[in-house]
Amino acid sequence: MSLVVMKFGGTSVEDATAINRTAGIVAGRVAAGKRPVVVVSAMSKVTDQLLACAAAASRGDRTGALAISSRLRSRHRDTAAALVKDPQSCGKLQSAIEREFDALDEILRGLAAILELTPRISDLIVSYGERLSSFMIAEAFKERDIDGVHIDSREVIITDSQFQKAIPLDALIEARCAEKVRPHLEAGRVPVMGGFIGSNEAGITTTLGRGGSDFTGALIGGALHAESIEIWTDVNGIMTTDPRICPDALRVKVISFEEAAELAYFGAKVLHPATILPAVRKNIPVLVLNSRNPTNEGTRIISLAPHCRSPFKCIAVKKKLTIIDVVASRMLMTHGYLKSIFDIFDKHQCPVDMVSTSEVSVSLTVDSNDKLPAIADDLSKLADVKYEGQKALVCMVGEDIRGQMGISAQVFTAIKHVNVRMISQGASEINMSFMIEEEDVEEAVRSLHSAFFQDPDPAIFDVEARQATAQPTIPTVPTTQAQ
Ligand code: ASP
Ligand code: MG
Repeated sequence: MSLVVMKFGGTSVEDATAINRTAGIVAGRVAAGKRPVVVVSAMSKVTDQLLACAAAASRGDRTGALAISSRLRSRHRDTAAALVKDPQSCGKLQSAIEREFDALDEILRGLAAILELTPRISDLIVSYGERLSSFMIAEAFKERDIDGVHIDSREVIITDSQFQKAIPLDALIEARCAEKVRPHLEAGRVPVMGGFIGSNEAGITTTLGRGGSDFTGALIGGALHAESIEIWTDVNGIMTTDPRICPDALRVKVISFEEAAELAYFGAKVLHPATILPAVRKNIPVLVLNSRNPTNEGTRIISLAPHCRSPFKCIAVKKKLTIIDVVASRMLMTHGYLKSIFDIFDKHQCPVDMVSTSEVSVSLTVDSNDKLPAIADDLSKLADVKYEGQKALVCMVGEDIRGQMGISAQVFTAIKHVNVRMISQGASEINMSFMIEEEDVEEAVRSLHSAFFQDPDPAIFDVEARQATAQPTIPTVPTTQAQ
């Protein structure tokens, strides 16, 4: 059975038009003899709005919370009406939507009375986004000759009880997939499931963390030993860099899991980093595809990428960072000093991105956040501390830099006019990262892109697209200006 998991993000299901497009893509796979399992996100922005109404209710703003919920109710109701024309099916779908929103409103009223939003209640509230979208899409499929069947993901994605960032329990998920998903596939049906949501073993709703629908896709794909996992989004896959900075950025046709994981971490928002793990373990390729441009081949993420002529595949940028310099001569010849520094970051639950040390100084980078003054205060008990915001991290990723001599010289020659604050060649050996001023980002990325993607390897990059969009050179004909 050639089983594929097709995950559609929020923009691919944002309204009836997008859902129609999605149904067309799924029908195409079925016609090609594939057996899809469809995983969908909530309609775009719905998760944010559910969080906003939870926050309003927990502040005691009952009216505000119910107003947001009522707008969401209308949006789902209207979308359902536009999607399902058969009066009986539409009636059934509409009453299911009303029931779900009635239940949500009950929770919001309760929350406005008790004024305490726990992570557990937050997960219950946001779960409505994916519960509604998946149910509605399964119904829409039925009218489009796809034998869709809705499966409540909370019966399949079993997790621990860390609400808002629950850890999936692989063995249980595998057993549930065999029991609740596979029989539908064998009967030729197309299961439709919500991403992001799950439940603990006691059946209490959990979520996998923001952006977690990709993770659901990979978990289902892994548990069912799918042939591939398709992540349908609204971009043509992974690009060599942000096309808003470099209009001649190229699509990367194929990239290794390891490279993609580095990029995801450094803010290339195409994939949830953890997505990659369940797929890597089972060696299942992940494809990033564009639902607005379904014939584009996207990016294929595989275990071992083929050799590439260019040392780098991508240049990613992460902005809004702060550098913290900790300098202490007391550190000389002592031990446990770094531990005490990291203990402070741990205490404030602040993740550190990059670290560079010398005998007496440590520089660290973190996402700019409001805990920084408190962190600096604690650090100043150990050493002299300075911190500076508006920094950006440029991360260049490529397996082919492994063991190559002279790469850093080429990189820093390309940006010799830019002030580089901190450099790290990750332990992974496949990324080179350095910190610059936020205001220098565009200039630096353009210089690096033109230095390293001048003559791109056509086996790895979509060179044809660049040629197709390149402006034809118009010969300059001397014109006589009227005086
Ligand atoms: N709807 C969830 C979110 O917005 C999960 C997802 O879309 O991946 O974070
Ligand atoms: Mg996403």
